[in-house]
Amino acid sequence: MEALITPLSSPSLSISQTPNLSSFSPLTIHPIFSPKPYKKRNCSTQISKFGNFLDLIPENKSTPIKFDLNWVNPSHKHRYDVIVIGAGPAGLCLAGRVAQQEIRVCVVDPDPLSMWPNNYGSWVDELSSLNLDSCFDKIWPMACVHIDDHKTKYLDRPYGRIDRKILKKKLLGGCVSNGVRFHKAKVWKIDHQEFESLIVCDDGNEFKASLVVDASGFASSFMEYDKPRNYGYQIAHGILAEVEEHPFDLDKMLLMDWRDSHMGNEPSLRVGNSRFPTFLYAMPFDSNLVFLEETSLVSRPVLSYKEVKSRMVARLRHMGIKVNRVIENEKCLIPMGGPLPVIPQPIMGIGGTAGLVHPSTGYTVAKTLTLAPVLAETIIECLGSTRMIRGQPLYHRAWNGLWPLEQRLTREFYRFGMETLLKLDLDGTRNFFDAFFDLDPKYWHGFLSSRLSLMELAMLSLSLFGHSSSSSRLDIVTKCPVPLVKMMGNLVVESI
Ligand SMILES: Cc1cc2nc3c(=O)[nH]c(=O)nc-3n(C[C@H](O)[C@H](O)[C@H](O)COP(=O)(O)OP(=O)(O)OC[C@H]3O[C@@H](n4cnc5c(N)ncnc54)[C@H](O)[C@@H]3O)c2cc1C
Repeated sequence: MEALITPLSSPSLSISQTPNLSSFSPLTIHPIFSPKPYKKRNCSTQISKFGNFLDLIPENKSTPIKFDLNWVNPSHKHRYDVIVIGAGPAGLCLAGRVAQQEIRVCVVDPDPLSMWPNNYGSWVDELSSLNLDSCFDKIWPMACVHIDDHKTKYLDRPYGRIDRKILKKKLLGGCVSNGVRFHKAKVWKIDHQEFESLIVCDDGNEFKASLVVDASGFASSFMEYDKPRNYGYQIAHGILAEVEEHPFDLDKMLLMDWRDSHMGNEPSLRVGNSRFPTFLYAMPFDSNLVFLEETSLVSRPVLSYKEVKSRMVARLRHMGIKVNRVIENEKCLIPMGGPLPVIPQPIMGIGGTAGLVHPSTGYTVAKTLTLAPVLAETIIECLGSTRMIRGQPLYHRAWNGLWPLEQRLTREFYRFGMETLLKLDLDGTRNFFDAFFDLDPKYWHGFLSSRLSLMELAMLSLSLFGHSSSSSRLDIVTKCPVPLVKMMGNLVVESI
């Protein structure tokens, strides 16, 4: 986690260059899922100027997780069946699953026991279907979206904040019970030979394996691409904050607030926001504790971080939210869309490295936790008891198992969604979400959880057009043809 709080200078809209990556019926709150209480402090020395939280120093005290890992013994032969680079959600989930079948797995990460830095949220049904309901520390029975000052959508779909510590411990537990070894280092280099790969770590250790899986997140430099990496970027500034009071309903998480009344006295911010809009995402834990994140859903080039923070300051001030303490802060920068890595290639990927980021929303965790077991099965089939399938046939099976043709085609559709969002201004975006959340829940649920078939996505498009206002239809007709043609081209290329 970076300490990214910097004083603001004159807020003005700016779009920065592509970033260097080497960086969502009245019901009750579920009583068993209340977050651990943060001790409120007498914070007389920490009080911020009204509404401007940027001068508060984030506490960000993250203590390492206490867990007995099986560490690599340096005197042993450094040969494994599978090496997983990275102990994020993707790496740990995959490693534990693969090792279930007596496959020798080693996870290499600079700090396998550190707390994950990101605040993860997910639709509850996504993790429930994976039997991971216990990994939420808070569940909101509903979500809501403010389209503008006059219209709010109430979404009857529970949303939760993932308890990073519980999830990580659960995944570490799976690794440990299945014999996964851990090595604390950064991987510097990978050499691929015909039937095995060699990794070189920054501590000088070298390890060999039949398969190396890159789970090092989207900043990875190990993946090969053969198409321009024309990502859109989600950028956001988030704080877990103790506030004097806030206006949010405690039984609803705020998925998106597209209102812009806070810009009444800030003409320069308003102009920028009208063209490249940002929204507020909020998870209220109690009357004083709330996670707030000002978010640019997708931009290309990426919207400046300073601009995002300026808008957040203006919004919180307008909402009368006085921040007393910043407990955690996060800079969120997620590359979205773009091409898949070359399929197949000698290094396998999972999570952020393997194109699993939802191209239109940035959500990744649930999809990764769903697909890691699928990839694990393929690896087990190849390297299991017989250990016969290695080299090209292994890479081919692993990549095509993770990205079968149908999934590659549907991903093109989600990329089309992102390309369309990139073209929409504030009014267009509002109209889009107004129509989107009016769709039959099976469509908007399915779209956000990337589980629709190509046919269902086509039906969604027709239905969306049907629900759209006349100005939104005009947007679709005038702004979608280019992305549509690109998508059709990509669909043809993928299917050949
Ligand atoms: C701030 C933020 C908030 C997000 N919020 C959400 C959310 O709410 N919901 C959601 O679904 N998605 C969210 N995402 C997107 C995505 O889910 C996360 O980025 C997620 O952490 C990706 O998991 P991963 O395991 O692929 O990679 P990471 O979590 O990035 O883990 C990669 C691991 O690899 C290690 N590593 C890196 N390089 C090397 C190397 N060379 N050698 C060895 N180890 C290495 C890193 O130290 C790290 O431990 C968010 C992303 C960000 C940045």
